[in-house]
Amino acid sequence: MSKVKIPHTDSPNPLLTPFTGIHQTAPFNSVKIEHYLPAFELAIEDARKEIQQIIENQSTPDFANTIVALDTSGEKLDRIKGIFFNLNSAATCDEMQEIAQEIAPKLSDFGNDISLNAELFARIKEVHDRRENLALNAEEATLLEKNYRRFVRSGANLIDADKAKYREITKELSTLGLQYQQNVLTETNAYELLITDEDDLSGLPESIVEMATQTAQSKSKEGWLFNLQYPSYVPFLKYADNRKLREQIFRASSSRANHGNEHDNNAYIRRIVELRLEKAQLLGFKSHAEYKLQERMAETPEKVIRFLDELHQESKPFAVKEFAEVQEFAEKLGFAGSIQRWDWAYYSEKLKSEKYNFTDEEVKPYLQLEKVIDGVFSLARKLYGLRLQENENIEVYHPEVTAYEVFDETDRFIAILYLDFFPRESKRSGAWMTDYRSQSNVNGNSIRPHISLVTNFSKSTENTPSLLTFDEVTTFLHEFGHGLHGMLSQCQFSGTSGTSVYWDFVELPSQIHENWAYEKEWLDQFAVHYQTGEKLPEELIKKIQKAQNFQAAYMMERQLSFAMLDMAYHNREIPVEGDLKTFELNATSSTDLFEPVDGSLQSTSFSHIFSGGYDAGYYSYKWAEVLDADAFTVFQENGIFDRETADSFRKHILEKGGSEHPMILYKAFRGKEATTAALLKRNGLEASPNPSFGGK
Ligand SMILES: [Zn+2]
Repeated sequence: MSKVKIPHTDSPNPLLTPFTGIHQTAPFNSVKIEHYLPAFELAIEDARKEIQQIIENQSTPDFANTIVALDTSGEKLDRIKGIFFNLNSAATCDEMQEIAQEIAPKLSDFGNDISLNAELFARIKEVHDRRENLALNAEEATLLEKNYRRFVRSGANLIDADKAKYREITKELSTLGLQYQQNVLTETNAYELLITDEDDLSGLPESIVEMATQTAQSKSKEGWLFNLQYPSYVPFLKYADNRKLREQIFRASSSRANHGNEHDNNAYIRRIVELRLEKAQLLGFKSHAEYKLQERMAETPEKVIRFLDELHQESKPFAVKEFAEVQEFAEKLGFAGSIQRWDWAYYSEKLKSEKYNFTDEEVKPYLQLEKVIDGVFSLARKLYGLRLQENENIEVYHPEVTAYEVFDETDRFIAILYLDFFPRESKRSGAWMTDYRSQSNVNGNSIRPHISLVTNFSKSTENTPSLLTFDEVTTFLHEFGHGLHGMLSQCQFSGTSGTSVYWDFVELPSQIHENWAYEKEWLDQFAVHYQTGEKLPEELIKKIQKAQNFQAAYMMERQLSFAMLDMAYHNREIPVEGDLKTFELNATSSTDLFEPVDGSLQSTSFSHIFSGGYDAGYYSYKWAEVLDADAFTVFQENGIFDRETADSFRKHILEKGGSEHPMILYKAFRGKEATTAALLKRNGLEASPNPSFGGK
């Protein structure tokens, strides 16, 4: 391995020398900002050379010298990327963000150099053409197919003129996506609701008012400033008594980028949809949805549409009832007329607190972080026989991060797990699982994974330990589930291991583990009051369970309407005709419970599908829920700590990564395809007796 000297220091670049720490963990202590750029540049150069060697190999292309060689190439670059991008999310600084800007185009050039490399593709194609005679096992066949498709789906099989066209379309699409997003952002930021009359704050919680004071101050304004950012907008609609102002802010949000000005997204949407269709058809698909779904568990647009419709048919009657309940409740509180969209969150919040009457603050004392960690670790032990042991000698990137070695029942080393819980200025918001090294086992060279879970849970104070909300506990279980998918992986190739699965399958391991949070049997093991030691009361657990299903059908219909709109745009064989308002109403009217609002348009700020990568993929939220609910029924039937069931889930799902088609893996665990029944049952939306909604 090469050792480059960087000009202003004498020591070798730790990113480029072999990692010699415990289990070859990342040498966080010695990596300095100035190491990244030279390391990236050299690693990219080395990775290019490795690709060149594959191409120049004089032997006939075969699985080992082409597909495996490609999968194992760029190992050094992956290692550096892992450290840099994970830290850029969890412990960033201005310099890192600058490096990210600088390195992004270089990485994307390198990516293109591979995926547009005709010589490399020729070798892959030669192996692919002979795949029937190569005696490949299932995972090898999957890796071959994955690599072959990666090229074909990027136009490698096209004639030169079409290749040029493909490149043009892709380029225009990436610009359009950015412009679309920019318009949403500009229009989001353009709106301000400045309140100067204190009476208009009526109903808003103190913390929200305080935030609005600070926002106003930060803009040198007198009064209270609200905007369309989520933390300001959502509570305003939920709590503000002033109906006129709720309407105003709602209309502002729902008409973003639909004002016929220079930030209007209507034309962008048409063009994006048209180009996606053109690209898909160039590659031989009927629609963009068909193109995207080739690499999804759901496989075809028809299947997705049937799936959405089935959930819709079952949920709609319940949603109608929920709607009537809110209308009635509003009237009870003195409201006259029909409730509108800007009334929904307001009256729903009041109804919810009347029905369930508990707050996060009541639950938190029972959910002390240290105890929750014990609870999660004991779940891993009960289900999968894992033992997690802190090792202070493993280097970490921040004093708040803890590193664990994970062992199985035979004391075999399985993985490294880093846990990083608390918010910092240098950390982005949210929670995520990531890896520093993925699992692989090529030719007996077993590489075990290094996994990291990052969250933003509230920290302890002088007087109280870190206490989690119930949602934070489910978040922990969710990310831990992703973590198990990474840690327990027993695959051959890094390209098919761990979480390298189709994206409508990746949330199964995470979401299924959330189910334990609602089980008294699990909560009883660790959820005790941090002062009194008293167990989380059963009554409170019941309330949590019930509150979970509050307006489940309404939310289901809302998610379905987004997914239906997404499919309407992307499962079509001709460009969009007519105005988008009509188009949108046609696509979503079956789910809609409100009168349409003038000037409102979902599409012009639907970033998920026009710039967020969820195109023809919005359904996957519900798809994953159906899978996790269906899979969890096996645990419910056999016992939530049943070892045999957990072994089967581990063997068929967690260890298998993306080594085979997810439907094959799922059926191996479940014995059959998932149905929507378990999710509907969990949401309290079981088979409606209403015959008019019975047909499928
Ligand atoms: Zn997730």
